[in-house]
Amino acid sequence: MASERPKAIERVLLDETAIQRRVAELAAQISADYADDAKLLLVGVLKGAFIFMADLTRRLTTEHYVDFIALSSYGKGATSSGAVRLIMDTREPVTDRHLLIVEDIVDTGYTLDYLVRTFRSRRPASLRTCVLTSKPARRKVDAEVDYLGFELPDVWVVGYGLDYADRYRTLPYIAALKREVYVR
Ligand code: 5GP
Repeated sequence: MASERPKAIERVLLDETAIQRRVAELAAQISADYADDAKLLLVGVLKGAFIFMADLTRRLTTEHYVDFIALSSYGKGATSSGAVRLIMDTREPVTDRHLLIVEDIVDTGYTLDYLVRTFRSRRPASLRTCVLTSKPARRKVDAEVDYLGFELPDVWVVGYGLDYADRYRTLPYIAALKREVYVR
């Protein structure tokens, strides 16, 4: 049964088929790049990356391990101050592991920049980033993205893990929210 589209949705930017096809391509690329590295550890950033992480890791054909971290970003809904803090760390040690940080979206770049600096200081064997979506028009710092799913326009998006005030995360597509919902 197809569920009705929530009223707050403006339009679908990436449908389920497009997302699944791209996730499969990313997984194939990552599997090829890490074919010889037995210690690949994927670190997903909660909560936004949980669905992307689940789909991506299930398509990897190379040996890998899965862990998560959580961040606080001081801000609700579509507002953020740019200050980032780690509130839940990995369980797995990262030193000497091949680390792949998995994020839902890069906006200003502050979050990814913080994560790369934080994890690099722990001396992993290697560190790369895999990001499903990016809004290049919004970038304030040059964050390193090694595997990118899609570029998006400067709109607030929800679905496939992405939320607005903790809603809309489990929509199977990625959609722009109506501006009047998040611009006050
Ligand atoms: P940054 O600005 O540091 O690159 O991104 C900070 C965080 O803001 C992202 O990890 C993500 O959680 C959130 N974010 C940025 N843009 C969007 C968006 O369009 N939709 C949603 N749901 N979250 C976003």
